[in-house]
Amino acid sequence: MTVFHLSAECYPVAKVGGLGDVVGALPKYLVNEGIDAKVILPFYDKKFTQTHVFETVFTGQSNLGNRSLAFEVLKESTNVLGFELYLIKIPSLLDRVDVYGYPDEIEQFVAYQISVLEWVITQHIQVDVFHCHDHHSGLVPFLIQYSTRFDSLRDIPTVVTIHNAQYQGWLGWDKFYYLPNVDVSKTGLLDWAGCINSLATAVKCCTRYTTVSPGYLEELKIHSNGLEHLFYMEQQKGLGIINGIDPDVWNPETDTMIGDNYLASNLKNGKALNKKTLCAEFGLDDSKPLITFIGRLVIEKAADVLPYIFSACLEKFKGEVNFLVLGSGEKYIEEALSNIPISNNYNVFIGYDEQLSHRVYAGADFILMPSRVEPCGLNQLYALKYGTIPIVRSTGGLKDTVIDIKEKNGYGIRFENTTPEDACQAIETAIKLFADTKKLNMLRKKAMGLDFSWNQSAQQYKQLYNSLITIL
Ligand code: ADP
Repeated sequence: MTVFHLSAECYPVAKVGGLGDVVGALPKYLVNEGIDAKVILPFYDKKFTQTHVFETVFTGQSNLGNRSLAFEVLKESTNVLGFELYLIKIPSLLDRVDVYGYPDEIEQFVAYQISVLEWVITQHIQVDVFHCHDHHSGLVPFLIQYSTRFDSLRDIPTVVTIHNAQYQGWLGWDKFYYLPNVDVSKTGLLDWAGCINSLATAVKCCTRYTTVSPGYLEELKIHSNGLEHLFYMEQQKGLGIINGIDPDVWNPETDTMIGDNYLASNLKNGKALNKKTLCAEFGLDDSKPLITFIGRLVIEKAADVLPYIFSACLEKFKGEVNFLVLGSGEKYIEEALSNIPISNNYNVFIGYDEQLSHRVYAGADFILMPSRVEPCGLNQLYALKYGTIPIVRSTGGLKDTVIDIKEKNGYGIRFENTTPEDACQAIETAIKLFADTKKLNMLRKKAMGLDFSWNQSAQQYKQLYNSLITIL
């Protein structure tokens, strides 16, 4: 069975957040399950593309309205990622440094989707399932059914995975002419609230959609940036499958990005060494609990509340706790975090640094995630794997993966509201837990022993693909 994964991100080629981690790992586990999973990504001018060998497997022409675009399909020559990787390169459109943020982002992703389909029809490539990730490939389920240009792909089942429904790929109707040979009687399927909405279209037209946790599947019916009614109406097509983590990348025993490797059996010493190095680098007091935040500094992550939480706790627990932030995002949040005076209890690194993130997971005692919205959340899973206790707001995937220490078999700290008060109370619990070294070490060991590997989730995706192919 051949499954085409269409995505904007794939670690280590191009990653901005969890989407990259998932698309860099899931296909590898599907290949282990006997599925021919291939990833098709837009081309980016990144370290990975500069340092790996690619062969051109196709050169073609696609149209974006009246603009004719020459494109190439490049294949990574060695399958170094454990699956076949293809990149769609369009000079001056899909050959840039960043994944997101260009004024012509809509043109980039529409051209990407049309070019993938042009390649598939021209070369008569056998595809059994199109698996589209987020809105960047959300028009594919519509195009293959309702554009006569892609008629030959009409019966191929489509799976859409929603990693984040906040971003939906909106196009004004003035850009409708970008879509080739569309059956105009079906244009209602493209519309949501007066514009073309790629994610809404994907949900309406796909065979099945999945969310990255069961909790998020339910939450989308209540909060999904305007699509609540749609998720309610289409719920019979929905399925929640929790993300896994890739131990080839995230494993304190073998991680080449951390200074001192460790196992559950020597975690006390291993974590202490990593913490010492990290605290020395950031001028923090390594005798006190180290609580970190890693992530995008955006409202969804409640990063706007962090400065209030940190200021309140630094005042309340004077000298008894450290905070270290690694993140980038909204400028006003970056500034607010940078304006908190640096001390031996607080420091912040504004920017994106993959290697530093590994060192922080390994060196921190706790990770704080006060998220307003968390479709799955990978940070808490990585933290657990490194024996770092998560302090999370009870929402989405955080609720699905973190059991509070007050409950049977608990290993994390949960709180209810995205408020400095609730977060500070949870931090107080963490400080007390840190003082109880015996309990802390028992919980760390338990955390490291939890199984959040991809094996089980990959099986669920396989079952889903099989069910779609059997139906047809
Ligand atoms: P989201 O996809 O919403 O950003 P996830 O928790 O699913 O959140 O995934 C976040 C991923 O991005 C994790 O791998 C995390 O370590 C990484 N990450 C986020 N911000 C940074 C940063 N500033 N530097 C390094 N890694 C980061």
